[in-house]
Amino acid sequence: MQTPVIDLKTARNRRTPNPDQIIIAGAGIAGLTLALALSARGFAVQIFEKSAVLAEAGAGIQLSPNATRLLQRLGVLDRLMPASVQPDAVCLQDGISGNTLLHLPMGKGAEERWHSPYIVCHRADLQRALLAEVRSRDNIAMQLESSVTHHRSDSQGVMVRVQYNDRIEEHHGALLVGADGVWSILRNAASDHDQARYTGSIAWRASVPISRLPASFTALLPEGKNVVAWTGSNAHLIAYPMRSGEMMNFVAVARDRKSGGRWDVEISPDAPSQNFAKDFYAWHPGIRDLVLSVGPWTPWRLFEMKRCHFLQDNRLVLIGDAAHAMTPYAAQGAAMAIEDACALAATLGEQKENWPRELAAYAKSRTRRIESVIRRGALNQLAYHAKGPVALARNLLMRNRPVEKFVAGFDWLYGFDAESK
Ligand SMILES: Cc1cc2nc3c(=O)[nH]c(=O)nc-3n(C[C@H](O)[C@H](O)[C@H](O)COP(=O)(O)OP(=O)(O)OC[C@H]3O[C@@H](n4cnc5c(N)ncnc54)[C@H](O)[C@@H]3O)c2cc1C
Repeated sequence: MQTPVIDLKTARNRRTPNPDQIIIAGAGIAGLTLALALSARGFAVQIFEKSAVLAEAGAGIQLSPNATRLLQRLGVLDRLMPASVQPDAVCLQDGISGNTLLHLPMGKGAEERWHSPYIVCHRADLQRALLAEVRSRDNIAMQLESSVTHHRSDSQGVMVRVQYNDRIEEHHGALLVGADGVWSILRNAASDHDQARYTGSIAWRASVPISRLPASFTALLPEGKNVVAWTGSNAHLIAYPMRSGEMMNFVAVARDRKSGGRWDVEISPDAPSQNFAKDFYAWHPGIRDLVLSVGPWTPWRLFEMKRCHFLQDNRLVLIGDAAHAMTPYAAQGAAMAIEDACALAATLGEQKENWPRELAAYAKSRTRRIESVIRRGALNQLAYHAKGPVALARNLLMRNRPVEKFVAGFDWLYGFDAESK
């Protein structure tokens, strides 16, 4: 499959000097969603994005109802649905026996329960749907190949320094939002705790046309369109259909065996066979065949932050991975970026003098929410990678606890409305 590329040069490229505008650094999921949410509330928005082209190979994404309900309100979900799949169920299987441990119905039942669908799609399709909506709004301007490098806040607003290919400019606004991802340069890097930390695990990602999957693997798949997670000691594999069901997206998470805990060691192209595939040699033959026969598998080192960092000062707020890079065990990173964005737009009132107080309340409530999601991710990691007695206890629980109780256990997460006060 070709790497999907979104050429940002076709995006709106216009500048309007306006000291009341809200400046956003970064046009990822967080930045674009925020631009739309602010625009819907009548704010003028200026986005600076350092890339000219966004490309991400083989990256599928699960979007739970807490995210899709917000995308629906922004007019993005209708654009995204034709390229998405609404899975029938989320299934957990034992990676060695292939036996089903848990089958959680999703599909229309999930949509009715949480009033919005659970979907899976390609990240590039989500980005494209967001961009299409951004282009339709007159009060959003976007500059490409422009990196925010510095800012200076005062009681009146914020000055932002922007580096272009050939020049540096200063821009003024009422607020700066850092949506600049896990390596945010706007995050206060005063202490080690503020840095994103390498977890020592790598997510290996691949997307494969359904027709090319080995038969021994497809025999393992439960009937229907499902998100399936296979568990094992210290590793797991997730598969789900995307691109209207024509492709299967895979994420295999395993320990980094090669880099000695360092994140800056390059992972060589032939590393998969020596690296993550080893973790799956003793698994069910269908999974071993899959890992060895499809590809390319693209490595993605997993980073996390110990603490949330929403508020840097009264004129600089961070959202998305910049504020709280998290591991993907709860599949909520993008959903939290979308929630952050919509909650922030809903927080800001018309009176700018109230913004410091409103932002402080925002940071407090978002920190509570993110901490709960991080705890859920840690629990999922424990369940996915369990071995020995812990795995036995997990299997016992999954066999004996009514499915309805597992489903109800997601109400706090999927039923949440980030815009409600
Ligand atoms: C293996 C894996 C699987 C995942 N699966 C899921 C899933 O199923 N569901 C889910 O919800 N989440 C998932 N996530 C998480 C999700 O992908 C991220 O949390 C999300 O994409 C973060 O979006 P963001 O906009 O905050 O950051 P980014 O997408 O990193 O965007 C940051 C943007 O800022 C730009 N930028 C950076 N610095 C500057 C600067 N100085 N000036 C201007 N622009 C700048 C960058 O070019 C980029 O465009 C997964 C993550 C991984 C690694």
